[in-house]
Amino acid sequence: MIPDWPEERRQMLEKQLRRRGIHDARVLEAMGRIPREEFIPFESRVLAYADDPVPIGFGQTISQPYMTALMAELLELTGTESVLEVGAGCGYAAAVLGKLAARVMAVEIVPGLARTAEANLKRTGTGANVEVRTGDGSVGCAEWAPYDAISVAAAAPEIPLKLLGELRDPGRLVIPVGARSDQELRVVTKRNGRIDYRVATMCRFVPLRGGEGWH
Ligand code: SAH
Repeated sequence: MIPDWPEERRQMLEKQLRRRGIHDARVLEAMGRIPREEFIPFESRVLAYADDPVPIGFGQTISQPYMTALMAELLELTGTESVLEVGAGCGYAAAVLGKLAARVMAVEIVPGLARTAEANLKRTGTGANVEVRTGDGSVGCAEWAPYDAISVAAAAPEIPLKLLGELRDPGRLVIPVGARSDQELRVVTKRNGRIDYRVATMCRFVPLRGGEGWH
């Protein structure tokens, strides 16, 4: 059966995701279902399905759709996991992760964005298993720790130790690490007490602020 998702969303799935190697059917389904335009401020809404990050206010952006998809795919979620998202922004990635895992804790440092994320998740009916907290997620979120998976949507100078500490064994973390201008997207795995990482791609994210970010 071919889902009757809006044309621009189907185009996004095909041209931006599938053709670039996103093959996890659950990720594609989640991004096909979620109305991305609802997470974007009215004045930027014409860009809701653009192949770029789009401004969401407070000097922040919603990630490029491909990045959201890639990070979700790299976490290899099956539906049973507790996930921490650092940098909720407008709440879109949290909504996607919510469709792929059992529950999501989404932390956002800008209070106005945290409120917006909460409202967007609620209005779109995607927030039932997503909690939004205002705070510095670079130091984790003890409330539900440890997490089976952690997704960091802002670039850190190094992998924050507190986040490694809140990652379950076994567990998986994706994070952009590097300079402010450009980073590598690392997939960090914890297994049998051992931590390894590999680089998935080069990328460019807004800086992670706070205790274990940029001061
Ligand atoms: N997940 C969003 C991307 C938002 S961009 C999406 O769906 O596209 C990254 C976000 O990280 C910004 O909103 C920024 O305010 C936030 N951020 C930066 N440092 C942070 C920190 N230490 N803790 C929590 N959020 C942080």
